[in-house]
Amino acid sequence: MFLTISTTGSLARPATDLGFLLHKHPDKAQTFSTAHGTAHVFYPEATAERCTSALLLEVDPVALVRRGKGKGRGGAPDSALAQYVNDRPYAASSLLAVALSTVFKSALRGVCAALPERVEAPMPLRIEVPALPARGGPELVRKLFGPLGWASVTAEPVALDERFPEWGESRYVRLVLEGELRLADALRQLYVLLPVLDDAKHYWVAPDEVDKLLRAGEGWLAAHPEQQLITSRYLSRRWGLTRQAMERLELVRLAEADDLDVEDVDNAVDETTDTEDKPVPLAVQRRDAILDTLRAAGASRVLDLGCGQGQLVQALLKDVRFTEIVGVDVSVRALTIAGRRLKLDQMGERQAARITLTQGSLTYTDKRLGGYDAAVLSEVIEHLDLPRLPALEYAVFGSARPQTVVVTTPNVEYNVRWETLPAGHVRHGDHRFEWTRAEFRAWADQVAARYGYGVTYAPVGPDDPEVGPPTQLAVFTKTKTKTNSEKEAKAA
Ligand code: SAH
Repeated sequence: MFLTISTTGSLARPATDLGFLLHKHPDKAQTFSTAHGTAHVFYPEATAERCTSALLLEVDPVALVRRGKGKGRGGAPDSALAQYVNDRPYAASSLLAVALSTVFKSALRGVCAALPERVEAPMPLRIEVPALPARGGPELVRKLFGPLGWASVTAEPVALDERFPEWGESRYVRLVLEGELRLADALRQLYVLLPVLDDAKHYWVAPDEVDKLLRAGEGWLAAHPEQQLITSRYLSRRWGLTRQAMERLELVRLAEADDLDVEDVDNAVDETTDTEDKPVPLAVQRRDAILDTLRAAGASRVLDLGCGQGQLVQALLKDVRFTEIVGVDVSVRALTIAGRRLKLDQMGERQAARITLTQGSLTYTDKRLGGYDAAVLSEVIEHLDLPRLPALEYAVFGSARPQTVVVTTPNVEYNVRWETLPAGHVRHGDHRFEWTRAEFRAWADQVAARYGYGVTYAPVGPDDPEVGPPTQLAVFTKTKTKTNSEKEAKAA
């Protein structure tokens, strides 16, 4: 198994600095013993202009078998020989990834006392892996490395045997990555993506694999379009761990999106629905519609789910009929801002007793949310990936089960009208989807039927005859105390 990392430089910035960054001296050939064989690091070239570091891993197939870790691939599954005679020693795989992380540990972490400023700087890099087993072929290789900042990603299929072209292509590709990246980022990408492409992890996946994945994925995985495939393959398709990792990546993404959000709010720009002198921001109209709905439902103990920076919580506090207000959000940063907005620290004791701000994810059931009169999901559902929505439905309608649930979401049909607004305001960049009125109703009807709620609809903002209102609102009212499945469970 073989991998080379090359860079170019000049006398002022010699390429041989690579040796410092990798913590391996260019003049020496070094040998390390790793769990699966011997790793060698050496430099085929090392001048100020060009420097290449090679990592060669000699795998001991017999040792692999003895450790019970050589199984899994390579030949017919029932062939006893296959465990000894396979591609393990030659093809870059998870073993190479593990060796990479062992031998270049500090480089992966981005630590270099000698040249701290170079660690942070992108550098010209060329990484070559001559034989990379790639389940999914060159196309998947490009999909995985394509979005990661490389100027060029070459993935050439390797012929099964050059002398017999009619045999076709092997499952290996020659990978060449070229571009300006930080070395640590490049190494962390390889550490994750080599085993993902190999798709046959050689050791049992431990729970801390999720931590390892998130650490190595920092800065690139949360926004990667193939995040689900990467996560699931890296974790050997263990669904529980994959789900856990996806959930945590969602938090990372939200925290990142949140950073962008804050300015929006502080500048107090919002979608407006009126171009006259004093437009009422849509956010204010939405809040008023929600407050009216809650009052009409006679609610006094209210959950604001996905409360964001606490605007609705603040409005609820102003009306004494709301005796208990709980704001829940997954983003600690949003909650911190909400706390500041509400001046929680300066609030009188009785006022403060009415309010709780707490971190939680709405895609998990949460006992603390049971027994409330009403729950609000204001502009929240569209921030979830569609496949995660049923988990939220169950947590809110199936588990927390308040008497009333108010849901608002953008009406995508109305978006054509926004373009005519002078501000040209676009809706939020983190929206995972925006629904038409028909789509929203289909969703809400189905949720109501499944969980024993009735549902009515109301427009928020001007109800355009053609495209409808900018915001759509649904009010769910509980009709059954228990869902059918709960009854069945009880009866059984
Ligand atoms: N309700 C507020 C904020 C809407 S923005 C308003 O109407 O202005 C969406 C909010 O939902 C964000 O604060 C985001 O952090 C939160 N959110 C998104 N997914 C969530 C999840 N799975 N669990 C809890 N909160 C979530």
